[in-house]
Amino acid sequence: MNLDPIHLLEQIVDITNVNDRLSLDRMMIHAIHHVASCEEIFIYEAIPYLDTYQFVRSELNEHNNDSLEERDLISVKNVDISLVPELELAFQSRKVAEGDEYKIIPLQSKNKLFGLLEMRGQYNKAYNEKALLGLINIYCNLVVLINEAEKDNLTGLLNRKTLEVRLLDLIKQSANLEVNTPLDRRDTGASRYYWLALVDLDHFKRVNDKYGHTYGDEVLIMIASIMTASFRKEDILFRYGGEEFIVVLNATDKTSATEIYERFRTSVESFKFPEGIAMTVSIGMTHIEVGEPPGLVVEKADKALYYAKENGRNQLADYQQLLTQGLISPIVIKNDIELF
Ligand code: GH3
Ligand code: MG
Ligand code: MG
Repeated sequence: MNLDPIHLLEQIVDITNVNDRLSLDRMMIHAIHHVASCEEIFIYEAIPYLDTYQFVRSELNEHNNDSLEERDLISVKNVDISLVPELELAFQSRKVAEGDEYKIIPLQSKNKLFGLLEMRGQYNKAYNEKALLGLINIYCNLVVLINEAEKDNLTGLLNRKTLEVRLLDLIKQSANLEVNTPLDRRDTGASRYYWLALVDLDHFKRVNDKYGHTYGDEVLIMIASIMTASFRKEDILFRYGGEEFIVVLNATDKTSATEIYERFRTSVESFKFPEGIAMTVSIGMTHIEVGEPPGLVVEKADKALYYAKENGRNQLADYQQLLTQGLISPIVIKNDIELF
């Protein structure tokens, strides 16, 4: 089949008309859906972990395959590709793996392998292969540009601008899972429960005042490394502002979410910073409710953080728990909550 060049151009315009990674993946899946009439399309991101990789898989919510207005990307965390030999083969060999009902294409830019694209099920094998590969090359180049734009320059964590996009997507995702996915097809319960924590360095101004701004910057970089080492690969880490960070994670219940945040707090407490200084962090955490506005989630975490600061610092405070204990008053929902 010869692809209509105008149609192909339209797909290229769509995938180049986004500025965040999730929208790009969504547009790309949509474009391949059109080019190869393929039903099932998955994008895997390979995240370096120790001396191996972990994989995060993205796919479109099947109920909304044709709707471009909605942000309808579903991310399934931590797929073990070694369970699917053809995925493993394509990744290890960096070559296209193809069978009767699948085609797997390594994703790489400037010789750096960062993921896989998988087409599965019935698809039109007469599609224009060169057009498809060209589209994938454009996609790979865009991934590199967007990854750079989503990161904070100093720490390499995701930046504040990206927080809103990711948070909206995540909240929408959990709402979609609640409403659209039949019980027996739902991922393990863990993926439906998210927590957000706002982390603020204690008395950081004193560090700058005593040792200088450059040293302060180094501390921020070290805190980011402790975060990266302390949280899991699927947790999402942001630099929210100067000496404030946000960690979004999913966990089966509040106890495990609390444990994960506590582990990070004690890691900072026991870390040996240069000049022998001791650093601590205060953390405000909150459960993310289905359908909640992102601004409200952050405001709740901020309220818990404020409590932690007022009550001795170097501690974790939980918004819902403080409410239950009557230690804080609930946040009044205003129409103008806008924190981004
Ligand atoms: P608290 O425990 O109440 O949070 O006290 P604090 O001193 O950490 O908080 P405060 O908000 O008074 O000061 C935050 C300081 O963080 C002020 C500013 O100098 C510093 N800061 C913000 N961004 C940066 C940065 O990018 N680099 C450096 N070195 N310092 C920064
Ligand atoms: Mg602060
Ligand atoms: Mg501070």
